[in-house]
Amino acid sequence: MPPSDGDRFVVVGGGIAGLVVARRLALAGRTVTLIDAGERLGGAVAPLTVAGVELDAGAESFATRSDAVPTLLHELGLHGDVVAPAAGSAWVHRADGRSVPLPAAGVLGIPADPGAADVRRAVGRVGAWRARIDRVLPARVGADAASVDALVRTRMGAGVADTLVAPVVRGVYSRDSRTMPVAVAAPRLPGLLRARGSLAAAVAALRADAPAGSLVGGLRGGMLRLSAALADDIARLGVDVRTGTAVTGIEPARAIAGDRELTGRVVLAASAPDAPPARPVTLVTLVVDAPALDAAPRGTGVLVAPGAGVAARALTHVTAKWTWVAEALPGRHVLRLSYDAAPKDAATTARSDAEAMLGVALPAPREVAVRTWSRAAHDARDLGMPRVGEAVAGTGLAAVVAHAESTASSLLAD
Ligand SMILES: Cc1cc2nc3c(=O)[nH]c(=O)nc-3n(C[C@H](O)[C@H](O)[C@H](O)COP(=O)(O)OP(=O)(O)OC[C@H]3O[C@@H](n4cnc5c(N)ncnc54)[C@H](O)[C@@H]3O)c2cc1C
Repeated sequence: MPPSDGDRFVVVGGGIAGLVVARRLALAGRTVTLIDAGERLGGAVAPLTVAGVELDAGAESFATRSDAVPTLLHELGLHGDVVAPAAGSAWVHRADGRSVPLPAAGVLGIPADPGAADVRRAVGRVGAWRARIDRVLPARVGADAASVDALVRTRMGAGVADTLVAPVVRGVYSRDSRTMPVAVAAPRLPGLLRARGSLAAAVAALRADAPAGSLVGGLRGGMLRLSAALADDIARLGVDVRTGTAVTGIEPARAIAGDRELTGRVVLAASAPDAPPARPVTLVTLVVDAPALDAAPRGTGVLVAPGAGVAARALTHVTAKWTWVAEALPGRHVLRLSYDAAPKDAATTARSDAEAMLGVALPAPREVAVRTWSRAAHDARDLGMPRVGEAVAGTGLAAVVAHAESTASSLLAD
């Protein structure tokens, strides 16, 4: 018997969000077509081959604050390969051109203890003194601030706002802290600030709630294995997968791709056709033979404060962060730098930025790979159809997977 319309779904977009929904619907016996504009499924969770080894080209980790990703990895038989990043703090490259360790106890770069020695080292004596005023300000000050920057600047001053918070928000979310809504980056902070009386106490409370251990996890062999496993699983479940097919028009019960029309309940797992412009992010990966990096002089990576004089906004020392990468490339170092706009001469710019951020001279890279991504802008408009993915769920795999799973459950319950 052919499936009734309620049983037939068309999932538009085969990033992690679309894959999770398609898999969940197919597991429940629904007929599913998954369409993706690209040739490969997985979206921003994708492979990049450097020096003969497959690494992550996009997302390389997941937040462990929710169970969503670990549960999915468990179902896919990948849980045994979950790894924590190497211990060692990230650093921040300050506006004065010096790199300092990012204080250990914080959220979004906001310190839980502004009096701590590592905060003084990062923002200086005056900056740390100003940050401590947070403790004596009335709780309502800044509690209604719209942006992360306004909240932090009001309570803890420019030192913490510019040197710690701006680089973290830019490095993690590809966003400017001055336009990053508190409600998106840390929705619980204002309530905790009111309840606990200071921003530092609110941050300490958030940290106390976080699960013990590392805040992020990765996969031996890369997060790219998640995309591959989901793609294999939906093929096994009989999902009709159409790659290389860009959807040009969507309605609640049909998706149009060029001259083809697919009917069924549409689930939008990509940006809407008239979405606000996506933000580009260019990643430049360098493979270098540099014994000076063996000791990981800047821990797992460096974030950049505004005005620091380098074009990159963040650097990950991949071989210092992930043991499996170091083991796969003995004697080599992999550095990954991210840029808001693709640098003109990527190899030269990335090498000199890396030298400034890491504080060492580097030889010419053995290999350079450049990849530009676009990250969906927040767009929660009601389009009359179920939506999943970064534009509606928020940034990061934990948010995207949890939201896709709960959307699929609601669709099945309908
Ligand atoms: C460089 C980079 C690094 C990141 N690092 C991390 C990290 O370390 N940890 C973390 O948790 N998160 C990270 N993220 C964020 C995370 O990768 C994303 O939040 C998540 O992968 C988004 O999944 P998605 O399915 O919503 O979107 P996407 O992965 O963007 O997938 C959307 C899919 O829709 C397809 N599509 C688009 N338009 C159409 C169309 N018209 N027709 C058909 N198909 C279409 C695209 O081809 C794509 O496959 C990173 C993102 C980037 C870009």
